Parts: sequence; structure tokens; C-alpha cells
Amino acid sequence: MRKNLVIAIDGYSSCGKSTLAKALAKKLGFIYIDSGAMYRAVTLYFIRNNVDIHNNEAVKDALQHIELNFHSRDYQSHITLNGEEVSEEIRLMPVSENVSAVAANKLVRHEMVRQQQRMGKSKNIVMDGRDIGTTVFEDAQVKLFMTADPKLRAERRFKEMQEKGDTSTTLEEVFENIAHRDYADTTREESPLVRAEDAIILDNTAISESEQLEFALEKVKPFLP
Ligand code: C5P
Repeated sequence: MRKNLVIAIDGYSSCGKSTLAKALAKKLGFIYIDSGAMYRAVTLYFIRNNVDIHNNEAVKDALQHIELNFHSRDYQSHITLNGEEVSEEIRLMPVSENVSAVAANKLVRHEMVRQQQRMGKSKNIVMDGRDIGTTVFEDAQVKLFMTADPKLRAERRFKEMQEKGDTSTTLEEVFENIAHRDYADTTREESPLVRAEDAIILDNTAISESEQLEFALEKVKPFLP
């Protein structure tokens, strides 16, 4: 039985996983790790350096030249790629459109999982992603599996992008991207997105952010010292 507490949050794209994960980390004083940001940063590197995802030698070589680091400020997760802050750029469409193909690569996944497991070795953490409860931390004490109506997810994500000043993408494109990533993530060979048997389903279609936080805190409570 692990001594540090791990809260694993998995689920479909744009379900509000990071919103809940950040709120939980803040409330509990845990470290928040956004595993999706890692796959996004790798994707950005691959785009910039024309790395062919189907060429295993090129992928292997590229992975050796990538250093990812998280810097937590106010429980907002900031990620650097070889020392460069890329938190904003990894949210833009070119990365969103390519990330699921990169994340399906076995070599990429093995390296990311290795780094994620190291980050969660001794500290209390909340990690969100697609395979956290099934692969990265099968022994996590609390596992949540999030879902919500796809149309609502696209609307929320679109609003978020507009608020950040990203007006280059239409609501339809956001919807298409979410549908594409859900399909790719659930059907890939290597650790596909699937609910861990012991994960608790959280559908936030009709509940508020504070209600979902309450729900999650109830599940964590029994494990707190
Ligand atoms: O969480 P986010 O939507 O930013 O993740 C971007 C993409 O990274 C996902 O669509 C998925 O393809 C991949 N991902 C993954 N495993 C994780 C986290 C993210 O495959 N643990």
C-alpha cells in the first residue's frame, strides 16, 4: 500500500478534469500534475522539429532531447519545454489536432508514464489524464472517471478559448476536435481511455463546479490523515 495519497482523474476531452484537479489540489494542499500538458508539449516539439511519429528511431531520438518541467503558480500548472514556457502554445489548435496521434505512440507513452510515476512517488498528488487510474497509478487510493455531454463540453471549451482571446477557432471545430480525440483516445492500442473498474463515475453535465468539488472531497475524505 502506498504511503502518499494519489487522486487519479481520468475522462473524456474537455470534461473539466483540470478544473476539478486544481480545485482539489488547492483545497488539500496537494501537487497538481496535468499529464495532458506533457503529451501536448511533446507534440509541440514534434511539430516544430518535423519529427515523424511513425519513425521509431526519430521518436526515440527526439524523446532524448525533450525536457519537461512543471512550475506551479497559484495551482495553475505551467509547463516548460527545454526551459521555454509553452503553457499557452500547447492549447492552440495545431497541437490539439496532433496530440492524440502522438499520445498513441508506445515510445512516447512509456517515457511519459515513467516521468509521471516518478513525480508521484512520494508526494500527495492529483493527476489528471486518460490512463492515470488504469496505468500510471493503478494503486491510486481515489479514482474518478469524468464525463459530460459532448455538446456542452465543446461549448465550455469554446467559451474558455474566447475568454483567453483565441478567436481563431469556431465552435464546430472545437466540437470536431473533441469528438476526434475521444475516438482516438478510446480506440488506441496502447493504454486506451477506459474507466478503471474501481473508478467512480462523475458526470458533470448538470452539476456546478462547487458541487463536483464537494462530491470528490467526500470520496477523498476517508483517506485523509
Ligand atoms: O488532457 P488534455 O485534453 O490536455 O490531453 C490532450 C491529449 O493528450 C488527449 O486527447 C490524449 O490524446 C492525450 N493524453 C493521453 N494520456 C494522458 C493525458 C493526455 O493520452 N494521460
